Amino acid sequence: MDLALRDEAVELLRDLVRVDSSNPPGRETPVAMVVKQYLEANGLEVELVARDPERANLITRLPGTGDGPSLALMGHTDVVPADAEDWTHPPFGAHLDDGGYIWGRGTCDMKNELATRCVTIAHLARTGFQPRGDLLLISQADEEDGMEEVGMPWLLKERPDLKCDYAIDEGGGIRLELADGRVVYTLQVGEKATLPATITALGEAGHASVPTLGRNAVPLLATLIQRLAAHRTRKRLVPAIREMIASLGIDPDQDLDVVAAQVSALHPMFEAEIDALLGITIAPTLLTGSSARNVLPGRASVGVDCRILPGDTEADLERELREALGTDIPYEFVYDQQINGGTESALGTPLHEAISAALEAHDPGAIIVPSLSTGFTDAAYIRQAFGTIAYGFWPLTYTPIDLYEGGMHNKDERIHRDDLGIATELQIDIVRRLLG
Ligand SMILES: [Zn+2]
Repeated sequence: MDLALRDEAVELLRDLVRVDSSNPPGRETPVAMVVKQYLEANGLEVELVARDPERANLITRLPGTGDGPSLALMGHTDVVPADAEDWTHPPFGAHLDDGGYIWGRGTCDMKNELATRCVTIAHLARTGFQPRGDLLLISQADEEDGMEEVGMPWLLKERPDLKCDYAIDEGGGIRLELADGRVVYTLQVGEKATLPATITALGEAGHASVPTLGRNAVPLLATLIQRLAAHRTRKRLVPAIREMIASLGIDPDQDLDVVAAQVSALHPMFEAEIDALLGITIAPTLLTGSSARNVLPGRASVGVDCRILPGDTEADLERELREALGTDIPYEFVYDQQINGGTESALGTPLHEAISAALEAHDPGAIIVPSLSTGFTDAAYIRQAFGTIAYGFWPLTYTPIDLYEGGMHNKDERIHRDDLGIATELQIDIVRRLLG
């Protein structure tokens, strides 16, 4: 490992972590300024683009000669809030411990990735690398909350010149040792879509002192919620998950319950996610009942977080919900928002090949396993805006997976410094292979 490059990324990460960009409220501009100073010191021209001056996005570009594809390296500057009392080391202190771990909010999501992407482009710039197509770095605000329209969706509308052939963002690259000894790295090629709904149980209002009068909607809703929670949705294969299963050496054309069991046996992470990757998920979360304790409400409702697969429609989810709810309790059902996300990039592209080749050189014999995010990332916006082939990939080798996932959006988030070294080197290699 190139220790100088690693330590450069570590120091930049620590500088980024020390700026509190908890979202809400965000205030990402000071983080963007740290990035700007670093990149300018390495000879790059940097542009801040802001709808809200406190929430700037950042763009830099290593211009290509024009006879090859373009690539954007992405990284959001905001983080989720942190409750300092719960932490072993202060969440914005960027403590580096004796074991080589950097502690703090954003060390896994995703100031770590951003720091290594900055060092990647800086290193390529100062060593005189001439890309065939443009190499961009886009560092955007407001990923974690997304309510203010100041980050990626706004930026891409504002700046059509950010159109690029390929992009690398957060979400994949995790190195897993399977139960049978094989080593795989995940490659995130898309995400599920959100389609939240509200279900309202319909009863009849009455005085709570005589609960048998009227028809209290709350216990009716309780029954509906139990049915939603117990419902098992249909399983089906989308292309990315078919490819994931095949790349694990499992026949995707068997009964999908058998497939799920075989995939689960390979690694606990697969076991945790496979059902969500094979179908719609329905999670009742928000509750509304009576506005007064002494009133039996005629209506009581639950907000349901639903995630559908790429290609699923509102009708597909409605069919699942109606099956779950049954016909004996009257209810109303509405969608709260339109379908958001559900994008999927193709595999077998030059970026996929560049990542495979770089990994093969670094970790011979390792297998790339495509996957979908069950959540959401800004890669969805760039796929939608420009048809960009965008993958989530940041190799995670040293930090144990449970520590990494356990710290994300949680207390004691931390990353091993050697992951920054490997990730920087691999990204430099990927860029050279794709754009060189
Ligand atoms: Zn993130």
